[in-house]
Amino acid sequence: MKVTLQHLTKKFPSRSKKDPREVVAVNDFCFEIPDGKLIGLLGPSGCGKSTTLNLLSGLQEPTSGKIFFGDDDVTSLPPEHRGVGLVFQNYALYPHLTVLQNIRFPLENRKGKDRLTKEQMNKKALEAAKLVQIEGLLERKPSELSGGQQQRVAIARALVKMPKILLLDEPLSNLDARLRLQTREEIRRIQRSTGITTVFVTHDQEEAMSISDLIVVMKEGVVQQIGRPQEVYDNPVNLFVAKFLGTPPINVFSARIAGEKLYIGEDAVLSLPGMADREVVAAIRPEGFVPREDGELICQMDRVEVMGRDISVVCRNEAFQGEVIRAIVGSEHIEHTHRDTIRFHLKEGKLFLFDSGDGSRIRF
Ligand code: ATP
Repeated sequence: MKVTLQHLTKKFPSRSKKDPREVVAVNDFCFEIPDGKLIGLLGPSGCGKSTTLNLLSGLQEPTSGKIFFGDDDVTSLPPEHRGVGLVFQNYALYPHLTVLQNIRFPLENRKGKDRLTKEQMNKKALEAAKLVQIEGLLERKPSELSGGQQQRVAIARALVKMPKILLLDEPLSNLDARLRLQTREEIRRIQRSTGITTVFVTHDQEEAMSISDLIVVMKEGVVQQIGRPQEVYDNPVNLFVAKFLGTPPINVFSARIAGEKLYIGEDAVLSLPGMADREVVAAIRPEGFVPREDGELICQMDRVEVMGRDISVVCRNEAFQGEVIRAIVGSEHIEHTHRDTIRFHLKEGKLFLFDSGDGSRIRF
């Protein structure tokens, strides 16, 4: 089902006497979520991800703006009438019920013509359990399951009513690294096989990039960019988005344009015909550095971290805005790292320029 957010805004009154300004948790969010897609809602803590999800589920009402599921305006519909499935970070299973009873629970209080027999409920619960591959655990209690298995039960419980929309709020945060990886692939598989429009909230950019059809990057309640993960990575609209995506993170330098050339410190690293002189921020993806004898950017070697096929060259430069630069290069370049300095040629498509004031992108 298509979901439309129209100028969605949520404000909370200030809780602080010192600062009476209200908090704008979600600010004028406009987006049409295409039917059947998985959307990764991404941003640092406090950027408004959970509030957006709560507005979609109906747990909170917007201050202004509207939400449509398909053509239906659901803005003031209570959660139980929206047909959404919700999964939270803490699995919130009922400890005294078995897995089967937990999954079946949302079907139990249906009234009138929607009422199901026990057999019908068990059949639906088994179907949902099969979808998340826990059909062998139906008689266990939650305390007899691993964290990953508990989260699957929570997903099955959200799926049992075949919701129109599935909303997942940091569903993998309580899992260890290996389980996180496995479960996120599982979520992707389930989403693909059911075709349910899904919104997945996370602060982990890698997680969002790896499974989403589209990602939405938020900052302080404001949507910064929406697009396919690769598109956003390759073409960030501002410095915040560029810094938020990618591991290791993008390398950020103070730079300037002078005489139609880009300077990082004293090094002229790129020709910029037609560009006026100004101060800028230059940001270079780790894979944008090519070690070369005649490379334009000179850095001081610190150390090499072996990553197998590639190496991470850790080096320094006075114009760098952080602690150390990390360049990811092929291991065949190792001989370049045996000196005190290393010279890099910079790949143009991996270098972005931003306004040194507001961080907006400068195209060249
Ligand atoms: P996290 O990743 O830490 O969960 P988030 O991106 O989900 O963060 P929200 O929980 O949506 O962020 O919060 C957005 C902003 O709204 C924050 O500044 C938060 O303090 C504020 N906020 C959220 N709920 C309330 C509330 N009930 N009353 C007042 N302010 C709130």
